[in-house]
Formats: sequence, structure tokens, C-alpha cells
Amino acid sequence: MSIHSFHPPQRTLMGPGPSDVSPRVLEAMARPTIGHLDPLFVSMMDEVKTLLQYAFQTRNNLTMPVSAPGSAGMETAFVNLVEPGDRVIVCQNGVFGGRMKENVERCGAEAIMVIDDWGKPVDPDKVETALKANPGVKAMAFVHAETSTGTRSDAETLVKLAHAHDALAIVDAVTSLGGSPLKVDAWAIDAIYSGSQKCLSCVPGLSPVSFSERALETIRTRKSKVQSWFLDLSLVMGYWGGGAKRAYHHTAPVNTLYALHEALVLLQDEGLENAWARHDRNHQALKAGLEAMGIRFVVDEEWRLPQLNLVTVPEGVDEAAVRNRLLNDYNLEIGSGLGALAGKVWRIGLMGHACKPQNVLNCLAALEATLYGFKAPIETGVAIEAAQRVYGH
Ligand SMILES: *Cc1c(COP(=O)(O)O)cnc(C)c1O
Repeated sequence: MSIHSFHPPQRTLMGPGPSDVSPRVLEAMARPTIGHLDPLFVSMMDEVKTLLQYAFQTRNNLTMPVSAPGSAGMETAFVNLVEPGDRVIVCQNGVFGGRMKENVERCGAEAIMVIDDWGKPVDPDKVETALKANPGVKAMAFVHAETSTGTRSDAETLVKLAHAHDALAIVDAVTSLGGSPLKVDAWAIDAIYSGSQKCLSCVPGLSPVSFSERALETIRTRKSKVQSWFLDLSLVMGYWGGGAKRAYHHTAPVNTLYALHEALVLLQDEGLENAWARHDRNHQALKAGLEAMGIRFVVDEEWRLPQLNLVTVPEGVDEAAVRNRLLNDYNLEIGSGLGALAGKVWRIGLMGHACKPQNVLNCLAALEATLYGFKAPIETGVAIEAAQRVYGH
């Protein structure tokens, strides 16, 4: 047996994540591994916390990356805040709200579901009705940017409703952080988690989280122990908190944290508002091109996520065959539909480093060529021009 080194091809990642990683981030990751308690590493960790506070727009002291992907950030929020016997309102309008329900129930708590159709935002009226009907709920949880449908919900309004009924607000920002406006302090979010591999242009494997003072107080006054040893924030904080005196909890993923540090430096240098504007502009160009071709968007314009474009597959087209052709002939990855949307839609991501004019134009050209090859009912020869008009040249 002789197995050789693995050399992946250079793909362009325009699906639901992971998205393209900046070469600067990959280069940072290849720097020498040092000890995870090395004073130089500890000061880099402090910088990561500061940079994350900027990305989240928060002064929350407990702001740090969990050493595992976004799902672990989700689990961190629930296992620390929810105890057996609690009741939590969970809003579901796609795949990820369903995972929140799983988390609540595995904490021994009751999930009170507020359901909206896939492709629609969470309806604040339904949330208010649920809050009124269930006085004393511990928390209300929702997904800010539902990656399964490309739908944004009105986080600011939903958090206000939770607080008006004295419930904590838990927010999934895995796909929104760095891609669309998100203001943890201004919106008074209590617990939020994200992922490194969506709009932050970083490799997968880390989950930035942030907890408000009120959330910390809730954790401090728990009656029961957090059932997860690894995700128990009172233990994790001994490593990520406490200034210079750090206690060993687990071995931090040293090089992956170099990567996140570099990705956050890139975000700081670009400026958060500029990053949001870049995602919007490239989305507008992609939209113009796709619509010129005759491909339709599913989500109402007001609630569309620029970083995740949910579009219908043209009539009679085998969507998986198109994706395979894009991957094999153009090294371009786009996403398929999930659940009831499987086979009917594509999810075209414009996240982080992948969100640039070059990718928009390449994607439009490759999709047009592929669909033309499959004899799909589309307009040809108009998409690139429509996109270029948005870019203004
Ligand atoms: C990707 C994603 C997750 C899960 O993150 P992983 O890094 O895959 O564990 C959770 N919520 C949303 C909205 C996501 O898009």
C-alpha cells in the first residue's frame, strides 16, 4: 500500500460554506506551532478577543472562539443557559431552527416552537403571541441568517420582544457575522454564536461566541451543572478569561487560531461596514445577471441575504448534473436545496473572500455555459452585461 500526500484542487467555493479562504489566512496557518500557554500565544488570543468584539460590535467581556465548528457554538449557548425544566421559545424557518429545538430538548427543557415557512423570515407577531401565551419562558432563540433558505430575520425587533417578556435572546449568526449588519450591543443580544468558515474568509473549525452580562449572571446562578464538560463556560473561561493566569482546559487549536486572527485582521482593515457593503454590491450584480438569464429568486427582496442566494432551477433541468458539471469543468462549487427545497433550488453563496466581482462574473458565465449545454430554457448572452451594469463599467 502506498498512500501519497493529499493535494486538493483549487476550487471556488460559492455554496453555503465553507467559503473561499483568503491566501493570507492560509499562509498564517502554516506558521510555526507554539505552545498554547506560551505568553506570545496568550497575547495573540487576547487580540483575537478584541478583534471579535469589533466583528460582533460588542463590549461583552465573554467574547471568544469555541474550539469547534458553529454547531458547537450553538451547543455552547444552549447547554450553558438552559437547564432541565426550563421552557424556551424556538423560532424555526429552516434547517437550523430545528437544531436549536434538538439542543433545547437535550438540555431537558421544553421547546415551544414558532414555525414559519421556509424562505420566510421569523414573524414577530407570532413570536409575540407565543411570548404572551407562555409567561416566564427562560429564553427565545432564532436564526438571524437562515443558510438553508437565504433568509434574514429582523434580529433587532425579535430581541426587543424577548426582552419585553423578560426572556434571554439567543441568536444564531453563523452566516451573518461579517456578511450583513449585526450589532450585538445595540440590539442587546444576550447570547450569540457564529462560525469561522462562512463570511469571515477563514478555515472551518472555530465558533466565535459572545455572551452579555445578563447571560453570564444566568450561568452563574444555575441550579445544575452544565451537562457538557467541554462546553461548560465556567471552565472554558479559566483558559480564555483570566488575564495572564490561564489554566489548562483543552489544547487550543493553535494554528487554526492564527488563521482566525489573520481573517479578523483582514476584516478590521477592510472595515465592517465596507464588508457589509461589498456583500450587498456583489449580490446585486449576481442577482442582475441571474435574473437577466431568467433565473428567479425565491425569498422576498427585503429579506434576502446577500451572502446566500436561493434561486430556482430552470424547468426540466437536473440540478445535480449542473452542479457536478460546474465542479468538474469549472472548479466551482454551489449548493443544493435542503428539505422540501431539494432538487428545486440552488444556493449560491457569496461569503467572505469568495464575495468578489471576479467570482460573480465567473459564476454567471459558467452557469450560463452549463445550462446552455443542458438545453435549459434561459436567455443567453445577457447575464454578464447585466452584472457589469451594476458594477458600473
Ligand atoms: C453552517 C451553520 C451552522 C453550523 O455550523 P457548522 O460550522 O457547520 O457546525 C449553524 N447555523 C447556521 C445558520 C449555519 O449556516
